[in-house]
Amino acid sequence: MKKLDRKKIYIYQNDVPKSYEARQQFTDEVTKRGYTIVDSYDETVGLITCIGGDGTFLRLVHACDFPTSPIIGINTGHLGFFQEILPEDISGFLDSYEKQEYTLQSIWPIDAIIDTVNGTYQLRGVNEIVIRGPHTHLTHLGIEIDGSLVQEFYGDGLLVSTSMGSTAYNYALGGAIIPPQLDALQITPIAPSNTNAYRCFRSSILYPANMTMRMTPIKRSCGDTLEIIVDGFDYLYEEVQKITINRSGAGLHLVRFHDYNYWTKLKSKLL
Ligand code: NAP
Ligand code: MN
Repeated sequence: MKKLDRKKIYIYQNDVPKSYEARQQFTDEVTKRGYTIVDSYDETVGLITCIGGDGTFLRLVHACDFPTSPIIGINTGHLGFFQEILPEDISGFLDSYEKQEYTLQSIWPIDAIIDTVNGTYQLRGVNEIVIRGPHTHLTHLGIEIDGSLVQEFYGDGLLVSTSMGSTAYNYALGGAIIPPQLDALQITPIAPSNTNAYRCFRSSILYPANMTMRMTPIKRSCGDTLEIIVDGFDYLYEEVQKITINRSGAGLHLVRFHDYNYWTKLKSKLL
């Protein structure tokens, strides 16, 4: 890994007026303090500043291909689970950054390896990976965890969520909220079918993040074309043989302060 230059900053933001204002304020402050702002991300960037909401954080991470540098999020969006400070905290944040009074929270994305007749593809997600039938078709999938068949799923699809992603789409589907300290993944069913023909689990299944999950399309009923959505980015694959999901080894590192408290954040944002 290349050495980080603590005075080198990359800024990523969304397109709302509040974010432009925060960017101006941040730029003025760091220029005064002798930092350099670069136009594109590279591994030597000491600090990535992400201005926006959680959606902006997700877009930053994908645009920079899962950057390894510390990330500070300035929240100008609605929720801000990934975002640590508000625009009014910029000056205080820089004081703490310079005194190195912060910690880094590492979060772990998930990887999907998609084997198709035509080749193998890899996707990585911070919040979740959704596997579903194309164009609102049903899907029929065999689910294995660590080599054991759990069930055949029949329904709209399945969502595999990280703990950081558990408060996003997963939560809207009735999945469990998992604090990031718990190293677990969860499979949440999307409109599971429950008839005399098919019985599918209705609640989320939590499993240890070091286990491997595999899904195999059952061709006879629904075919083998699948739509896969990672963090809101959509892909379509034909002739899928299997999808293997593992926790990623490539961590993201969020700047946090001593008063960061997951439960307080959860209460103020969601509950
Ligand atoms: P979007 O439609 O603009 O935003 C979806 C909402 O999810 C935003 O309010 C966003 O917060 C919030 N969010 C994102 N990550 C979160 C997290 N880890 N915890 C709590 N809330 C979170 O879409 P987008 O901005 O491109 O984001 C893609 C994400 O949307 C996907 O990863 C998926 O989880 C989520 N999604 C949710 C539903 C649903 O709830 N029914 C359906 C599809 C997708 P901000 O306002 O701060 O950006
Ligand atoms: Mn958004």
